Amino acid sequence: MQIRKIAFIGTGIMGANIAGHIMDAGYDLTVNNRTKEKAEALLARGAHWADTPAEAAADADVIFTMVGYPGDVEDVYLATDGLIRTAKKGAWLIDLTTSSPQLARDIHDAAEVEDKHAFDCPVTGGEQGAIDGTLTLIAGISETAAAPVLPVLESFSSKIFYFDQPGGGQTAKLCNQVSLASCMVGYADALALAEQSGIDAEKVLEVMASGTGGSGASRTLAPKSLAGDYKPGFLAEHLRKDIGLALQRSEELEITLPGAETAFTLFDMLCQIGGSRMGTQALTLLYQEEAACAAAGLDWSLLDQGDEDDEHECCCGHDHEHGDGHECCGGHGHGHECHCHDHEH
Ligand code: NAP
Repeated sequence: MQIRKIAFIGTGIMGANIAGHIMDAGYDLTVNNRTKEKAEALLARGAHWADTPAEAAADADVIFTMVGYPGDVEDVYLATDGLIRTAKKGAWLIDLTTSSPQLARDIHDAAEVEDKHAFDCPVTGGEQGAIDGTLTLIAGISETAAAPVLPVLESFSSKIFYFDQPGGGQTAKLCNQVSLASCMVGYADALALAEQSGIDAEKVLEVMASGTGGSGASRTLAPKSLAGDYKPGFLAEHLRKDIGLALQRSEELEITLPGAETAFTLFDMLCQIGGSRMGTQALTLLYQEEAACAAAGLDWSLLDQGDEDDEHECCCGHDHEHGDGHECCGGHGHGHECHCHDHEH
């Protein structure tokens, strides 16, 4: 099949940049996003607009999705007018969102029944990787099976790992996220210790970078934390969602992930007090005086209000009733199997 027409659904922080590289590679691009304004730059460059994911997908050879939460993925693929039904036969459906491994398997199986090819392909490399077109892709498909779409994938990536089975990409991505989460808590602890001890925190970061205490997170995000730059490249609420998904999987496997548990508690706290739409580097605010937090826009009085109003504790960003929100990771009910747990749908 010659790939000519591509649809891209979800033109947020990551999606808009990725879609731009697909256009640069010469493909005919149609885009859809919940909020049209976030697609304007692509439209100005000649992308076509579609009012719905179904309309975008109608005659596309390849359809990419880069939405926020598993609940959004479920909507876009499995609703009555979702991509599984509306994409043309033989089309490729590639989900770049960080989402649930089980949902990825369900989507793969449903697509197969309809003679379409679907696989999970979450990414790592952050906003900068998306801007530069150098993302690392983590694919739930074999290299051989993915060969027909390789030229498109290569238009926005510099490395692809193949995990050979549906959901394998998402599982590997969640492993990356639990490591990232602990690295973030690690550097936040280190900066707090340095600052409270009255030594030069920037120099401590240099020590970490030249020794074994550094990480990708401390190299790229800790300088932003120190500078008080909390603008999102990666939203705090999305990391909370990812850790929630990993914890859900750990419960299924009956294992404990103490690092992830700690990180979840902290990121959940940050989200509850108003930091959901800040970058993950805002984690360090939790270690600061209340006045500094207030100056950055956080409000500690909101903490645990989720006990009365569950909305704060949920990772999915949707309005519906929850049980204990701690374990929610972003699915919601549409008559399909639920991929989060402890919800009352
Ligand atoms: P984002 O800026 O919130 O982008 C998501 C976009 O999807 C938003 O523009 C949203 O619309 C749109 N959307 C959601 N549901 C939709 C639907 N049903 N139909 C159409 N559009 C829909 O988030 P992001 O930072 O790009 O991240 C996207 C995903 O990639 C997340 O799962 C995240 O965890 C993952 N990720 C992010 C990074 C990073 O560094 N940012 C890195 C790797 C992976 P609105 O504009 O209306 O909100």
